[in-house]
Amino acid sequence: MGNIVAIVGRPNVGKSTLFNRLTGTRQAIVNEEAGVTRDRLYGKAFWNGVDFSVIDTGGYATNSDDIFEEAIRRQVVIAIEEADIVVFVVDVVTGITDYDEGVADLLRRSQKPVLMVVNKVDNSERITESSYFYSLGLEHLYPISAINGAGTGDFLDKLVSMF
Ligand code: GDP
Ligand code: MG
Repeated sequence: MGNIVAIVGRPNVGKSTLFNRLTGTRQAIVNEEAGVTRDRLYGKAFWNGVDFSVIDTGGYATNSDDIFEEAIRRQVVIAIEEADIVVFVVDVVTGITDYDEGVADLLRRSQKPVLMVVNKVDNSERITESSYFYSLGLEHLYPISAINGAGTGDFLDKLVSMF
């Protein structure tokens, strides 16, 4: 049961949009409201002759900041246990938030292979801004647009080379 990828990150960064792109489905619910995806969703993906499973995480629907942070933490801990590679999604439009720093901290300490995806890089001007996310201390950073597909080829080449 190899080749499992888990997508983590705070709500509204585009995890479900990326999941749908990777799995070629419209299974995950994409919503304007933060926290719409319920718990975890499993799908199949294929790139450069490599099959892998993708897990979309979510289930953060709550108004309490404490529970919210705890729910993100729980999803990251499960992802670290369950996945071979963790894809950590951040959002270039919002920039770095406290939640991003918390997740990055957990991932750095886990020693798990991590790819950081800077999403919503819909145009080339945003590529420059995406490099700010190197300050989170993770080695691999890929600017992508989950909506229009920009950058996803390079990201996927790297991903499947890491199994
Ligand atoms: P999740 O909560 O992390 O699963 O995020 P969603 O996939 O539900 O997306 C949250 C919002 O961001 C939706 O309005 C998406 O359409 C939007 N979004 C996702 N990917 C992109 C992207 O690459 N560019 C832009 N501009 N918006 C995006
Ligand atoms: Mg979602």
